[in-house]
Amino acid sequence: MTEEKFIGNIRKVTAHLTQNEGLSFEKSSPGKKAYRLAPLDVPEVDPAALLGEAHRSRNAALPELSEIEIIRHFTRLSTWNYAIDLGIYPLGSCTMKYNPRVNEFVSRLEGIAEAHPYQPESLSQGSLEIIRLLQDCLIEITGMDAITLQPAAGAHGEFTGILLARAYHESKGNPRKTVIIPDSAHGTNPATAATCGYQVVNLKSNAKGGVDVTALAQMVKEDTAAMMLTNPSTIGVFENEIHRIADVLHEKGALLYMDGANMNALVGKTRPGDFGVDVMHLNLHKTFSTPHGGGGPGSGPVACKKILEPFLPTPVLARGEDGLLHWNYDRPQSVGRVRMLHGNFGMFVRALAYTLANGADGLRQTTEDAVLNANYIRKQLEDLYELPYDTPSMHEVVFSDKRQARNGVKTGDIAKRLIDYGFHPYTTSFPLIVPGALMIEPTESESREELDLFVDAMRQIAREAEENPELIKTAPHSTRISRLDETTAARKPVLRWQGPAENGVEVDTAAKEW
Ligand SMILES: *Cc1c(COP(=O)(O)O)cnc(C)c1O
Repeated sequence: MTEEKFIGNIRKVTAHLTQNEGLSFEKSSPGKKAYRLAPLDVPEVDPAALLGEAHRSRNAALPELSEIEIIRHFTRLSTWNYAIDLGIYPLGSCTMKYNPRVNEFVSRLEGIAEAHPYQPESLSQGSLEIIRLLQDCLIEITGMDAITLQPAAGAHGEFTGILLARAYHESKGNPRKTVIIPDSAHGTNPATAATCGYQVVNLKSNAKGGVDVTALAQMVKEDTAAMMLTNPSTIGVFENEIHRIADVLHEKGALLYMDGANMNALVGKTRPGDFGVDVMHLNLHKTFSTPHGGGGPGSGPVACKKILEPFLPTPVLARGEDGLLHWNYDRPQSVGRVRMLHGNFGMFVRALAYTLANGADGLRQTTEDAVLNANYIRKQLEDLYELPYDTPSMHEVVFSDKRQARNGVKTGDIAKRLIDYGFHPYTTSFPLIVPGALMIEPTESESREELDLFVDAMRQIAREAEENPELIKTAPHSTRISRLDETTAARKPVLRWQGPAENGVEVDTAAKEW
């Protein structure tokens, strides 16, 4: 091989590894296969006769690739992405903490991974004990009386929790009409209330970003079913008057629902059940380190007080006189099932592994470290970025782009520039009560060294905003694609591979362009 050819080959290899090699996404070519079947050693059957109507008249239009092409395709795609396993993922409100490998180890143990939900209860006692133990741990952590693990996400937990509230009021003769929600709430809260048939009453936050209890007291009426409150709030502030909030609601027979997505700031320190909450959800994929994002399965258990227990989804786990665990379906007041089978069992295993590996002291330490990390970032950046509320921060800190905006640099631009520095962006423009919000949640997973790298990048970007705003407004400069048309991406998402025209119907060309 000549030297030029050799160098040419090296270039080709490095081009594969860098992000701008211009390789097409489409790799299929006819006739390639990634499998080989053993010769047929049973009598051949006509598949059409066997499958009847379910038999395809023509092959599915699947990509045709060799095994190594598939491996390279997915491995290459994975290098174009950012993950918690690569560095800090400070997406505020999302608690993107590290997924400890012990969770993965345990969830892959044969007896756990291969368990089938239709196995008889007598052969599922191990799996049921896992569910029971996780339920007990979560009841202890939240200070509530009962729990369901069925809901598959936080929003699904909210829906389930408000259904419980509705069933409770209905059992007293009147489902009531409204749900009070502060203006700082996550969008899923009003969506939940509306889906459950309630009118949303919006409560304006006070100057400290919290609940104005006097305004709340005037707002709560006989037709108020519940208040949905996130604590600590979406600006990372603990509601100091939570007891009074609960009292004001209870006096009128209304319930307090707590959105527990921010429990990473409370676990081991204080319990919603002790400060007046009647029903709440947890996000196992946030607080309890189960994998998060990418559309993977989540888990949003709902814990409640005794008064709501009769309404919990069926079935509920109970120990029989034989000492064995059984699913109890005989629940006349139940809201019914909210998810098939028993929820995302793999997430329960991971959350329990996390809980037991940490132990009570470890969980408390986790909370303290998460709050410490957020406040470290706050202290390191508050001279350069505007703090709209000076109330003490819990697990996340919210700045605004007020100072940078004077040079035309917005929160979204700063986030894009962070990508050039090798970091995942923080949450932009949320919560809505802070114009131009930068919402940063480092979680306890980060070391001082990683936090310092992030702080350095943020400080450097603040300087760039003064000296060279254009650099930030056109960022990122280091990625395969710079700025996406976010509206089209959201309105017309292309979420799966779409092959050449299927059944004569031309497929969406956007899929092929990628
Ligand atoms: C994440 C989050 C939710 C929704 O949880 P999902 O699991 O994404 O459905 C609701 N409320 C708050 C405050 C959150 O941070």
